[in-house]
Amino acid sequence: MRHKETPNDYGLSVWGGDNFTIENGRVCVNIGSHPAILDMVTEIRSDGYRGPLLIRLPHLVDKQIEKLYSTFNKARKEYKYSGKFRAVFPLKVNQFPGFIKILIEKGQRYGYGLEAGSKAELILAMAYNQDSAPITVNGFKDEEMISLGFIAKEMGHDITLTIEGLGELDTILEMQKKTGDPMPNIGIRIRLHTAGMGIWGKSGGINSKFGLTSTELMRAVRLLKESGQLSSFTMIHFHIGSQMEDIAPLKRALREAGNIYAELRKMGADNLKSINLGGGLGVEYSQDARSKSVSYSLQEVANDVMFLLKSICENKNVEEPDIFTESGRFIAASHALLIAPVLELFSQEYNEKALDLKEKGNPPLVSELYDLYRTINEKNAAEYLHDSLDHMESLLTLFDLGYIDLQDRSNTEILVHLIIKKALDTAAHLSERNQLQQRIQEKYLVNFSLFQSLPDYWGLGQEFPVMPLDRLETKPTRSASLWDITCDSDGEITFKTKRPLFLHDINLMDGNYFLAFFLVGAYQEVLGMRHNLFSHPTEAVVEIDDEGYHIRDLKPSASLLDILDDIDYDTTDVQRQLKKRIERSELIPEDKRQDVLAELYLYLSENSYLKTTRLV
Ligand SMILES: *Cc1c(COP(=O)(O)O)cnc(C)c1O
Repeated sequence: MRHKETPNDYGLSVWGGDNFTIENGRVCVNIGSHPAILDMVTEIRSDGYRGPLLIRLPHLVDKQIEKLYSTFNKARKEYKYSGKFRAVFPLKVNQFPGFIKILIEKGQRYGYGLEAGSKAELILAMAYNQDSAPITVNGFKDEEMISLGFIAKEMGHDITLTIEGLGELDTILEMQKKTGDPMPNIGIRIRLHTAGMGIWGKSGGINSKFGLTSTELMRAVRLLKESGQLSSFTMIHFHIGSQMEDIAPLKRALREAGNIYAELRKMGADNLKSINLGGGLGVEYSQDARSKSVSYSLQEVANDVMFLLKSICENKNVEEPDIFTESGRFIAASHALLIAPVLELFSQEYNEKALDLKEKGNPPLVSELYDLYRTINEKNAAEYLHDSLDHMESLLTLFDLGYIDLQDRSNTEILVHLIIKKALDTAAHLSERNQLQQRIQEKYLVNFSLFQSLPDYWGLGQEFPVMPLDRLETKPTRSASLWDITCDSDGEITFKTKRPLFLHDINLMDGNYFLAFFLVGAYQEVLGMRHNLFSHPTEAVVEIDDEGYHIRDLKPSASLLDILDDIDYDTTDVQRQLKKRIERSELIPEDKRQDVLAELYLYLSENSYLKTTRLV
């Protein structure tokens, strides 16, 4: 019995959020003319760009911003919540200009602001945040950063400095006293006893790195009062950690924060008008409906926020606060995808053609393996398979002891590989299917650096949806692990028996095979490392309408010289050294030296990714 040919949609309906569709076997963007991503890639590559490619889709930024505001505003209406809904984007999630330009443009109509956590981010916010949209500043601050806050205020920004400790508040108050400049708004990060969850859940909880305890909070209010600045205290802030998997910790945090807000109002903080819920809205990365990573909807979050805060405010008889959110991952993740060409398949040599049995003198166990291979069928599959695995163990031992030669060993490897494949093909009921798939997995060498483009996979084991851009009308049959092109054994996405990845058995001589990694727009770009000196990939912004698509803002990946310059090499010296060595080489004839140098300089102007691994 053969398996039914069901094509694989790679869990698109789980993680895809209706952003992509599969049409005629190709991944298409689900908007306007539904262009195929492969067409964009082909067009960009036809202009000579090689290596991995990061595509930004601005309409997906728009979609997420719209979703955020409309969902919360819908809940406000439903619960007759009188506070406003406002939001800022935390710059740490993606500060790249290719993204921020889109974000600012799309956020305009909502008054969407920015959150900064460092001086450099604050400068970005001061330069690009649209007038009247809020800026919030979190993270530890020194005098200089605080003074930037005062300057921002004078520039007309609606800026809130969120203090992480009492020392910061002292500095702010002293600075104001000394200069007499107008105060920026003061926010206070509160330390909740509620902790977040998951691999990112360290931001909340009583031992978290950030926030003031209740005792410190009361001290802060006293300090503000004493210096006549209590009216600048406008916001309390918390953040329970990124990629919230479950809504329960947020609900607990809301109850806690809502009561703290009400208590502070009662202590006379009359201008305290906002609660900033931080970020943490989760993104569904799972390709398998049975192991989803997010168990709530945005509407559920918005409803809970309105309901809980409203009831606390009613109980304690205080005004309903404005609600701020700082979600970053939710806004940025979906807009970017990374496309990387497959360069090579490493296990293709395990085919029948490669088998090189001896005319005579094959070890008996090898002959036996050959018989098993020829006669394995649906009924005997399990038994024959186990026999062959047994034989392989014995044959490998015989090789170690010097009784069989390399040719015998090679035949053993090929035959066992073929037997497993045939067993999987003929016997659907085999209980150990995925373990077997793991044994015969194909290693796909993919032209990208995991450290540069998917650092959270390396650092946290965060998985990203991956699928080929075409051939989706055919069932992928090869169990796959992915190797990146760094020289680091960590640069591998292994085959997992619980969540197996299958790809197509392709011949790269017949054409390219591209893999796309989705949801890479949050954190990955700036956390990306230049391990082995691979740099940020070539990127392009693609706008789509009913007629087709437009590629704009194409930014090539850095050249070899730029990469060296970036880590502080004197690149003219690098070039001088190369030239000197070519000129004194005895192996290069004098009349060839110019050509060799020209060739070398050409390479220096190209990026560090591979073009192809074979000389065709
Ligand atoms: C990182 C961070 C965010 C953003 O978190 P996401 O999980 O990306 O939404 C928001 N606020 C603060 C204070 C942060 O540190």
